[in-house]
Amino acid sequence: MVSNEMYELGAKSSVIREIFEFGKKRAAEIGKENVYDYSLGNPSVPAPEIVNETIRELTLNMPTCELHGYTSAVGDNGTRQAIADNLNERFGTHFTMNNLYMTCGAAASLCITFRALTEKDDEIIIFAPYFPEYKVFITSQGAKAVEVKCKAEDLTIDLEAFEKAITPNTKAVVLNSPNNPSGVVASEEIVKDMCAILERKQKEYGKSIFLISDEPYRELVYDDVEVPYLTKYYDNTIVCYSFSKSLSLPGERIGYILVPSEVENFELIYKAVCGAGRSLGYVCAPSMLQFVIRKCVGHTGDVNAYKRNRDILLDAFNEYGFKTAKPDGAFYLFMRSPVESASDFCESAKKYNLLLVPSDSFGFPGYVRISYCVAEDMIRRSLPAFKKLAEEYGLI
Ligand code: PLP
Repeated sequence: MVSNEMYELGAKSSVIREIFEFGKKRAAEIGKENVYDYSLGNPSVPAPEIVNETIRELTLNMPTCELHGYTSAVGDNGTRQAIADNLNERFGTHFTMNNLYMTCGAAASLCITFRALTEKDDEIIIFAPYFPEYKVFITSQGAKAVEVKCKAEDLTIDLEAFEKAITPNTKAVVLNSPNNPSGVVASEEIVKDMCAILERKQKEYGKSIFLISDEPYRELVYDDVEVPYLTKYYDNTIVCYSFSKSLSLPGERIGYILVPSEVENFELIYKAVCGAGRSLGYVCAPSMLQFVIRKCVGHTGDVNAYKRNRDILLDAFNEYGFKTAKPDGAFYLFMRSPVESASDFCESAKKYNLLLVPSDSFGFPGYVRISYCVAEDMIRRSLPAFKKLAEEYGLI
């Protein structure tokens, strides 16, 4: 009667959502201020004021039918050119509006790109730990997700395992840096090594292998860490970007796909992106938000607020004996579970009203994800609960 695959997806909510719902229920019982919800990646920093100013200005001055009307399917020309100019200024690249396709956030960017590039049974490599929706997005387009585990010691890419995973069916690899859920940023050295492997494999198999950069957290980095701009290292790179995190606009659904002119068969690939957008029903990203981006591209929310949150938690975890690598970016800590089952550990944490996400759905069991995009005040109030949890596990 319905597509079984779609039914399964709709009926089974994600672990993260389940924990979030539990938090809401618990808050109704004991008060919101007594629940420490570290489950969701919803930015806690407000959008910069220029976003609201621009919206006010647009609603006052732009003819309504234009403001709320369709733009062209690929996106507003002025918006796409403003994004290209901003990227060129920051990274010394040479993009124009013709390299850009506006989307409803990174989720749409990824689905469209996977649909555009792959045919049945093509393989897409993803690195674990990964954003759980990758598997949904890849398999829904008829392709196969191939997982490569990062190194346990520092959660960086295992280049040897990566090279072994590439087969004649490999169509693309997704690199998410800064990473959700680990916060790890791929260094320039790793990027260069990855690209050298990809070049070698392209030659060996006589075909294009695309590097898809999923980078909604690009601007959320701390301590002057550099995030290499991948199109400069590898011609067959396609960038999937979103303003959800950098401008704190996740509910507004706005992002883009960048296909550089250097990509092999650029015209063909860009047209396939347009076709995939059309076939998935994504033509014309939200118009008002496109006009907002035309003015606000290059701005970000207050990244220092996230850094402060990260540092408060890291200091406390060091004291309490929890093992966590220091993440360079995004707003997640990936903490090693003190027992084998991260789910058991998260259940124990619930006793102290600490809501943490077990890492199984990120393809990397034995850890918990802590989203620190929350109010600093909540973090400070939650520290005694973390301390009690550490005591329960004999860490202090
Ligand atoms: N990719 C990663 C790694 C993410 O963490 C997210 C959202 O959290 C997305 C893509 C989807 O982003 P958007 O909300 O812009 O669709």
